[in-house]
Amino acid sequence: MIVNSERALALYCPACQGIQDHVFSIFEISKYPRHLQCSCGFVQGHIRRLEKHYELDLLSVAGDRIRLLYSLREFLFLPLVAILEPQSGQEVGYLGHPYEVEEAAFLLGDEWEYSDVQIDLDEFVNPQVMHRVLEKLQELAENDRIKCGCEHPSVGVDIYADKVELVCSFCGSAVLIGGTTRKDQERIARITEIVMEPSSHAFLEERLKPLV
Ligand SMILES: [Zn+2]
Ligand SMILES: [Zn+2]
Repeated sequence: MIVNSERALALYCPACQGIQDHVFSIFEISKYPRHLQCSCGFVQGHIRRLEKHYELDLLSVAGDRIRLLYSLREFLFLPLVAILEPQSGQEVGYLGHPYEVEEAAFLLGDEWEYSDVQIDLDEFVNPQVMHRVLEKLQELAENDRIKCGCEHPSVGVDIYADKVELVCSFCGSAVLIGGTTRKDQERIARITEIVMEPSSHAFLEERLKPLV
């Protein structure tokens, strides 16, 4: 049996509020703590090997230190393990095969965005419409229906009081989606896929005309 020795961790960083991937070989993990440093410079924690476990020392979303133990099976072989904060049960990251971790982290990133939104719902110009818009976008994202046509699509979501902006961080392409009127709500309800054009700035309204 061939075991792929490459493993990955995706961890929420309380300092920059981003998600940092760490890819490593299982052979690199020893009893000496391996520091997990985010690209922002912040040290998120460490991993090390104990007798029969692997120890992950981390900071929670709230910034509290947490210590988690994983069995060899979990740490070395399972394709995907959600890393949960023991007290709240909140997901703070993933461990597993690099591919699975990357996929899961992408969705997790969305969840964080949306959980912020729940708290700030009152700040929207029209909370009901905005809620529909965000729900729809989440559904599209989960089904891989939000894309950019550029070489390395990486679409993120910026949420404002009256609109949502989808931005591709690779090519800078952006799409604005209104979130205030009944029309906005009807428009988004009809969308089955959003394919962004590389580096062009357009309103979703214009983009959707042929579909309507
Ligand atoms: Zn960071
Ligand atoms: Zn792009």
